[in-house]
Amino acid sequence: MGAIRQFIGDVHWGNLDYLIIDLPPGTGDEPLSIFQLIPDCDGVVIVTTPQDVALLDSRKAVTFARTLNVPVIGIIENMSGFICPYCGESTPLFKVGGGENAAREMGVPFLGKIPIDPEIVESGDDGKPFVSYNSESANVFREIARKVEHFVNGSEGRSVMREKEVVI
Ligand SMILES: [Zn+2]
Repeated sequence: MGAIRQFIGDVHWGNLDYLIIDLPPGTGDEPLSIFQLIPDCDGVVIVTTPQDVALLDSRKAVTFARTLNVPVIGIIENMSGFICPYCGESTPLFKVGGGENAAREMGVPFLGKIPIDPEIVESGDDGKPFVSYNSESANVFREIARKVEHFVNGSEGRSVMREKEVVI
């Protein structure tokens, strides 16, 4: 808690458009600390995997956010099929659809399916933003970003005009 408080409060973030915090899996102390320190955050995006068992974790995450009054922007299904670099065909290594089912069951938006795409790893290693690529996976990323942006800046978000700097 102390380290997170220091990181959020003492870093000179400057004038940010967005502050995105990548949290470890689960509903432990870290997300709780973040939501206590930034009570007016715009919302959470839950990233899950396609297996049926992921439904349980997604359900827990949505319930956790709702208990803390944090808006749920939506669910993303990660590792949603493997895109073959040779023929472009998608193979459902871990099944497909768990994220979408979780979103439907919990009544939250489904933001999209991100496939396992070797290009994502290569672009990261090359230091090139993957979203600038012209591929199916990059399209999925852009579409998800558009939905999140719409949620945060649109009527569903908490506030369109507000202080950008978080003071703790
Ligand atoms: Zn192939």
